[in-house]
Amino acid sequence: DSMWEQVQQAPPDPIIGVTDGWRADPDPRKLNLGVGAYRTEEGKPYVLKAVREAEQQILADPAMNKEYLPISGNAEFNRLARTLALGPNSPAIREARVATVQALSGTGSLRVGAEFLSTHLPASFPRIVYLPNPTWGNHKSIFGKAGFQVREYRYFDAATRGLDFGGMTADLTAAPPGSVVLLHACAHNPTGVDPSREQWRQLLELTRRTRLVPFFDSAYQGFASGDLDADAAAVRLFAEAGLELVLAQSFAKNMGLYGERAGALSVVTKSREVATRVESQLKLVIRPMYSNPPMHGAAIAARVMGDPKLNAMWQEELRGMAKRIKAMRQVLYDQLRARNIPGDWSFVLKQIGMFSFTGLSRSQCEMLVKKWHIHLTLDGRISMAGLSAATAPYLAEAIADVVA
Ligand code: PLP
Repeated sequence: DSMWEQVQQAPPDPIIGVTDGWRADPDPRKLNLGVGAYRTEEGKPYVLKAVREAEQQILADPAMNKEYLPISGNAEFNRLARTLALGPNSPAIREARVATVQALSGTGSLRVGAEFLSTHLPASFPRIVYLPNPTWGNHKSIFGKAGFQVREYRYFDAATRGLDFGGMTADLTAAPPGSVVLLHACAHNPTGVDPSREQWRQLLELTRRTRLVPFFDSAYQGFASGDLDADAAAVRLFAEAGLELVLAQSFAKNMGLYGERAGALSVVTKSREVATRVESQLKLVIRPMYSNPPMHGAAIAARVMGDPKLNAMWQEELRGMAKRIKAMRQVLYDQLRARNIPGDWSFVLKQIGMFSFTGLSRSQCEMLVKKWHIHLTLDGRISMAGLSAATAPYLAEAIADVVA
């Protein structure tokens, strides 16, 4: 007998499992709308030209080697990443009060940040994190593993398929002081619903008043609107108001570096001295987990951000990706309208970013999968990036069928 006989079969990951189901589906009409990765109009993965060019330059450089990075990663990447988020005129950066470490994409940055908070928040702060309901499924496990008690704040209003701002502010106002609040910097996943600029201002005041610790998850900067600065507005609002905050950045979507695992964790503090000490402790979180981060993706991202020509090329491609996704929203909306499906489907146009949260029930989603071979997560989230002008009518036809 194996000593592992008692090990139970774990359930498949609800998001990764969708792609497995799609792969196993023999039907030629099958669609994968579960995947959180950009696809071209032809349904293919896309490597950005700026990324290819940067990669070639890196590989052609005779000074390139494969030595270990420092524990905190590629320093140039860290500098450029935080500047991308906080802006070129950030007072926090000018005053050198931001500690940044490279980490394993967004997930790893969140995990390192959560571990740091769990150990180093003042002893009087509760280890409680407030996550939006719903949120990206991994948030719960990441903060749970780091020892946080996980609570939810109301976020999505099923009736309007928009933001439940009243519920959100009520729940956060009632949070114990010193709780961590996780905020999606832009393009909330899975709902595609973001607070307005004015609502962000109110959330800033609430965060200050209730003495919450803001933790921004920025996985879609530039990918939501096509504009890197516009998508960073909430993070900058908080940082420029002088708040201490934590920020996890991913370059998976906005640079298409998914598998390269390029990301950064920044802690914005009140002084250079504190930032220096915080960075020293972040390294103590990282060292026993994986020693130091992978070099290739960060080298690419640093070159793309740092080289004016590649940076312009990147921003152009970013606008292109955002534009195609927005165009898909319009195509799907028109197709749904053309079928006179009951209900107000304008949320498809209003929601932003990679996903649309359809409000379809679990059984309707199951019918999409089984009868129509349209693979999606059973919470009704569809990836607009996985859709094309050719496949949108088929999706609309299927939705018409399952809601009938
Ligand atoms: N945070 C959110 C909200 C996400 O949607 C994702 C990816 O889907 C991530 C973080 C982390 O992604 P990665 O670890 O690939 O950067």
